[in-house]
Amino acid sequence: MSRIAFTFAALLLFPLALFSQKYVERGYRTIQSSDARVFVGTLASDSLQGRDAGKEGGQMAAEYIVSLLEQWGIKPLGNDGYLHPFTVNGCDMNNILAVIPGKSNEYVVVGAHYDHLGFGMAIDGDSCYNGADDNASGVSAVLQIARAVKTVRKTPERGIIFAFWDGEEKGLLGSRHFVENCAFLSQVSAYMNFDMIGRGPVDNPKHVTYFYTASHPAFGDWLKEDMELRGFSFIPDYRAWDKPVGGSDNTWFAKNGIPIVWYHTEGHPDCHMPSDIPDKIDYEKMTDIIRAAFLCAWRLANENY
Ligand SMILES: [Zn+2]
Repeated sequence: MSRIAFTFAALLLFPLALFSQKYVERGYRTIQSSDARVFVGTLASDSLQGRDAGKEGGQMAAEYIVSLLEQWGIKPLGNDGYLHPFTVNGCDMNNILAVIPGKSNEYVVVGAHYDHLGFGMAIDGDSCYNGADDNASGVSAVLQIARAVKTVRKTPERGIIFAFWDGEEKGLLGSRHFVENCAFLSQVSAYMNFDMIGRGPVDNPKHVTYFYTASHPAFGDWLKEDMELRGFSFIPDYRAWDKPVGGSDNTWFAKNGIPIVWYHTEGHPDCHMPSDIPDKIDYEKMTDIIRAAFLCAWRLANENY
């Protein structure tokens, strides 16, 4: 390309890039720790009874999630509403699926399980297993990313499906049902997972494990770029993973060759205990993780990788 042609192209493209960045910033700014507190506080309150799959608490959690999606104008996936029921061993459960359509027939799925353990053995007189970190934290991420993408008000190249899985604690059942029954699985380009993003090891409280499919090093590069640009408060541990099968709902996607990213802040002594409560969440750190994940989701939906 001649220097004049290059200058001309640059002059043309630079404002376009800035213009597109402006749209993304509009979505980015909607992600706030005050909302993360409200979403986690509600989902992990005693009144939702630990969100046991197939029980009243799980159904109340589903109603709350659906009410937010409706309020923000994010449409259900398919023609039968947000709830996608399925049954395993006589237990009725519901995945919640919403979509922001793209220009192509490809999709990115952004998901987190919303179920937890319900009531269990009382410890110090408390039998409600609230599941604030596991996984009201991840649900609050998917909710905030959905609203941010909607606020961008620009059609992404690929559609983005927002998935709230049920029955994870009973054996990754919701995500398994989706993957095994999805008629367009070959059009799913990537899966982003959240499972526990609100805490951190005592000796390294700002730690985040960032798992991603090793054959897609761009996923690691994107976060490195955004860490420099945005100065996030968390410290990522980059874990490129050959076969990212195991641990959470990423399993079924990875088994089908779909590249994944998964944000996780590691286990802790309150994990699967009644003491996993909203007051123990690091909301500032979690909100930065959600901001970084929104930028990643936008790239998953718009870039080649
Ligand atoms: Zn979990």
